[in-house]
Amino acid sequence: MSESARSGVRGMTVASAFAGMRGVAPVVFRAGCPDCRGRFELAASALRLAIGATSRTTFYSFTCPECGVAVRKPAGERIVELLTGGGVRTLRLHSTA
Ligand SMILES: [Zn+2]
Repeated sequence: MSESARSGVRGMTVASAFAGMRGVAPVVFRAGCPDCRGRFELAASALRLAIGATSRTTFYSFTCPECGVAVRKPAGERIVELLTGGGVRTLRLHSTA
């Protein structure tokens, strides 16, 4: 029953899921695991964001709560904005001198 009710979000990318979270509190981030295909919500403290000099070196990471695999995905501008706005720990890989 609940499975069919949720089927509408199948195939949604993390990016679009995050976009849908805009302005919603409390802050949790919906994510999916590419390994076990689990879907879950993560608190800001469960995510890490690394901002590089270019978008190609900017990514976010988290540990799948279901299978324990380390997931790392590229983060576009919008995701960076949402993650930093949601209090995710951010590591800046380049200096802004
Ligand atoms: Zn997993």
